[in-house]
Amino acid sequence: MEKWQDQLHNFVDTLDRLKQHIHVTPEEEEAITSMKTKWGTTPYFASLMDPDDPACPIRRQVIPSLKERQNKFGVENYLIWKENRDTDEVRPDSIARQYRDRVAFTVTDVCANYCRHCFRKEAVVDRELKLRMDVDEGLAWIQSHEEIRDVLITGGDPFILADDKIEYLIRKLREIPHLQMIRFGTRTPIVLPQRITDGLKKILDGFHRVPIWINTQCNHPKEITDQTANAVFDLLRCGVNVGNQAVLLKGINDDVETFRELHQKLLTVRIRPYYVFYCEPAPGIDHFRTPVEKGAELIRDAIRGHTTGLAQPMYVIATNIGKIPLMPDYYIMGKDEKEYTLRNYQGKLTQWPVMPE
Ligand code: SF4
Repeated sequence: MEKWQDQLHNFVDTLDRLKQHIHVTPEEEEAITSMKTKWGTTPYFASLMDPDDPACPIRRQVIPSLKERQNKFGVENYLIWKENRDTDEVRPDSIARQYRDRVAFTVTDVCANYCRHCFRKEAVVDRELKLRMDVDEGLAWIQSHEEIRDVLITGGDPFILADDKIEYLIRKLREIPHLQMIRFGTRTPIVLPQRITDGLKKILDGFHRVPIWINTQCNHPKEITDQTANAVFDLLRCGVNVGNQAVLLKGINDDVETFRELHQKLLTVRIRPYYVFYCEPAPGIDHFRTPVEKGAELIRDAIRGHTTGLAQPMYVIATNIGKIPLMPDYYIMGKDEKEYTLRNYQGKLTQWPVMPE
């Protein structure tokens, strides 16, 4: 058994196994024993938890909370609405579409970590929504839609699939003439870095007409280790770039210091900050959500001008009509016929000449 499979074999999804890593609080225990929800993580990720602090950012992302029973501000049947599943277009369950030229292709509902804040919670974590994930059906749909240029393979976590299944997916997609790029959304570099094995590297490696891009999800600097750094380096050596899509999470990364440290630390392990997503209104995750403005404030106060340009993600809300950027619009303070008044991150003003069209 390979190390990554061993991690899944010893998946921390029982109270007894969790107690080998942390001192479980009575509230955590009640949530685990009384709630009907899928939960769990790898022993590796569990080992990063603070055994004594229930507010530990890793604990909060992994362990169910009684707060998930509340849903004052979330949207019922969120995923159906968000992924435009309630439309006239005939699509397999595995294909979600918000744009003309690109789709999300869901190939599994299994994850290496069942994130409590997951926007696909209804399907992946709580499993009230059943989706058919037939890979060949999805491939045939993509093949017959020549306008599709870019496919995001998602889940669940597609890197949980066996090597031969990943190889098949990539090979079949590359055979489709109109496809220009393949993206994978996988949390494995963060929650299961052991997954980047020699076998997987062989599948990903090399120069190809259709490149592979990876986006992972890292939400707190504590999630970044030497093992993350090695896994990402291995992916880069295969010609695969790794970006990060963090989720803005209340009490986890919504303060200036943590937000900045997260984005700076990502670059130290060669992960390029790409997006910060507003935490979506899936049911039962009110306790993770901030006001929408919070993300833009953090970009303004923690990132822009305060650190390296490469560390700057775009803050977006992912809606049913696509992503909507919500970057702080603080830099053009005024404009007349002759000049703009611009403001920098410190509040200093300067003038810049207007250029007519
Ligand atoms: S790994 Fe992704 S799909 Fe799985 S629970 Fe986490 S956010 Fe959801």
